[in-house]
Amino acid sequence: MDHMIPLSIPNFEGNERKYVDDAIDQGWVSTGGAYITKLEQELAKFLHTDNVCACQSGTAALHLSMVEAGVVPGDTVLVPPVTFIAAVNPVRYQFATPIFIDCDDSLCMDPAKARKFCEDECEMRDGHLYYGDSIVRAMVVVHVFGNMADMEGIMDLAHDYNIRVIEDATEALGSHYTEGRYAGKYAGTIGDFGAYSFNGNKIITTGGGGAITANKSEVVDHLRYLSTQAKNDPHYYIHNEIGFNYRMTNLQAALGVAQMEELPEFIRRKQANYNYYKKAFEGFELGELMPFREGTNSNKWFYSLKIDLNKVKASMRDIITALEERKIQTRAIWGLIYEQIPYKNAVTYGLEKAPYYAACILNFPSTTQITEEEMTYVVEQIEDVLRGFTK
Ligand SMILES: *Cc1c(COP(=O)(O)O)cnc(C)c1O
Repeated sequence: MDHMIPLSIPNFEGNERKYVDDAIDQGWVSTGGAYITKLEQELAKFLHTDNVCACQSGTAALHLSMVEAGVVPGDTVLVPPVTFIAAVNPVRYQFATPIFIDCDDSLCMDPAKARKFCEDECEMRDGHLYYGDSIVRAMVVVHVFGNMADMEGIMDLAHDYNIRVIEDATEALGSHYTEGRYAGKYAGTIGDFGAYSFNGNKIITTGGGGAITANKSEVVDHLRYLSTQAKNDPHYYIHNEIGFNYRMTNLQAALGVAQMEELPEFIRRKQANYNYYKKAFEGFELGELMPFREGTNSNKWFYSLKIDLNKVKASMRDIITALEERKIQTRAIWGLIYEQIPYKNAVTYGLEKAPYYAACILNFPSTTQITEEEMTYVVEQIEDVLRGFTK
């Protein structure tokens, strides 16, 4: 191969330059402008929801959701251990405490374990679930790699214990249920809040950016108000709440509107490429391409190879380095969050699958521009490198 095959890079094959130029020509580059509204409308239409607020990042979307969910200092929030740390940090921005609940085989939070935690370790008092003296106010449910969490189990639990559900759909724009109670429902539109990200490696990008939706349109209006410094009067600087500077800019939104035009095609390619890889990896004795949840249509944002570490005698770093030398960019799944310094004293519950998967998953190129020739090369080289480590 004469070039590096990237993991996941932006794709600007559409109207990106045209719309960004237009925003500059109009002079609307900051937190006001028609592209912001247009992007919000396009997202709402795509997600079959009433109202969406565009903001600066997925992290900002998660933080605003946390504020709006009423998470206050001293509260407890249930979170996943194996995901990007940005899903958990907003708990600490609110001076609340995360508790890490194990994942299931989808890599998303296991509702059965979360329920067991609530039953065995907590107590219902005055309509709230208490862990010791702390109210379990919310849970952050991440749809990992575009794979949807078991939302029926999650929503039943949330209902039984009066817990707000913040869906981190930053990796799952477009994933939706096709069967069951939530058939037709998109990731981020089932819980109380849904957060999206348009960072450079996500399925669409605005450079940096994000969005939030909520199960009530007025709540989204309030989130938009909070994101723009909570300004109450169009002419005077009157502020009735503590706001944030979290609004998306019109420049970002111009990129976003162009990317939304291409989103269905990006999803189509991600899904087709996944199927191509699936065939190519068939029968491989040292690893298995992880499936996506039955009864859902996933955007298939990221692909995971589960490596058999009983047979492959190498660290993930050795594997990644060897593939890099062969011009293939891969990565290990995230470091477990409860092992990171800021969280090392955190409470964990039922951990079993999270450390198992964290050790053996390799993500490999899933970029929308990848060719069949490149995918064939990727599979051949991964198989060859892993076989080399069995001796
Ligand atoms: C990307 C990502 C985020 C953060 O989004 P930003 O736009 O980068 O702030 C949060 N959670 C998960 C799971 C992510 O993958």
